[in-house]
Amino acid sequence: MIRNLITPAQNTWCPGCGNFALQHTLKEILAGMEKEGRSLDDVVLVTGIGCHAKIADYLNINSVYTLHGRTIPVATGIKLANPKVTVICCAGDGDAYAEGLDHLIFAAKRNIDITMIVHNNRVYGLTTGQYTPTSPLGFKGKSTPAGTTEYPFNPLELMLASGATYIARGYTRKMPQLAQLIRQGIVHKGFAFIDVLQICASFFNMTEYYQSRVYDLAGHDTADFEKACAKAREWDYNRDAPIALGVFYERALPTFDDRYPARYLSAEERSRRIRDLFEASG
Ligand code: SF4
Repeated sequence: MIRNLITPAQNTWCPGCGNFALQHTLKEILAGMEKEGRSLDDVVLVTGIGCHAKIADYLNINSVYTLHGRTIPVATGIKLANPKVTVICCAGDGDAYAEGLDHLIFAAKRNIDITMIVHNNRVYGLTTGQYTPTSPLGFKGKSTPAGTTEYPFNPLELMLASGATYIARGYTRKMPQLAQLIRQGIVHKGFAFIDVLQICASFFNMTEYYQSRVYDLAGHDTADFEKACAKAREWDYNRDAPIALGVFYERALPTFDDRYPARYLSAEERSRRIRDLFEASG
């Protein structure tokens, strides 16, 4: 029997929020997995802190609400302890690109087999509109009434440089494509990174801007690193330029969880080593 994947929790996202599209997309993907005979008991959703994180309250699957910016350490621990589990992380742009940036880089470098979905609305929405690392230069928010003085960084370029083996960009108003990108990321063995342009209807509504610029990356060679870099640089989150959506890069490489030696030890020894590993890393 397909379980009801939507919980009875009261939904407090603002009307028009792109998080609804992400919730619905994930629900459809999970329902599809269950129809194919996959047990959703073997799926874990890990979230950070922010508007996006409420998805853990609204989707009826195993989930862990972590601290701000700490989705990846928790997801990594889950994957190492039980490699059979499918681990999906949802994080905000503040979570993934500010507080948790070092974790993101190392997850890509290690090629840990998890799927990272960044709800990139380019603003701190839960705290009512401060700038994040992907807000454009001059963004006027609660903490920057005169406009930011920093350029945004380009997360796709950063992920390419850090070694991520699946790099894609989706958009919450292109749900069928978004579903395809996330599905492919879940199937991909290794670190799958999906930056999602998510509309924040209340504090940075970029719908009009995105609608006139997004296009499909059809015909792009996803095995070509240099072409992926060129495509990732085409739009740098600040300029007026076409915005490519799709898979930029994909490569098969051994994963961290495959190489991690503790996997082949007894449960007791494995627990001890994992505990030591995490204690050593602080
Ligand atoms: Fe969505 Fe923005 Fe409202 Fe948060 S503040 S729920 S991101 S529309």
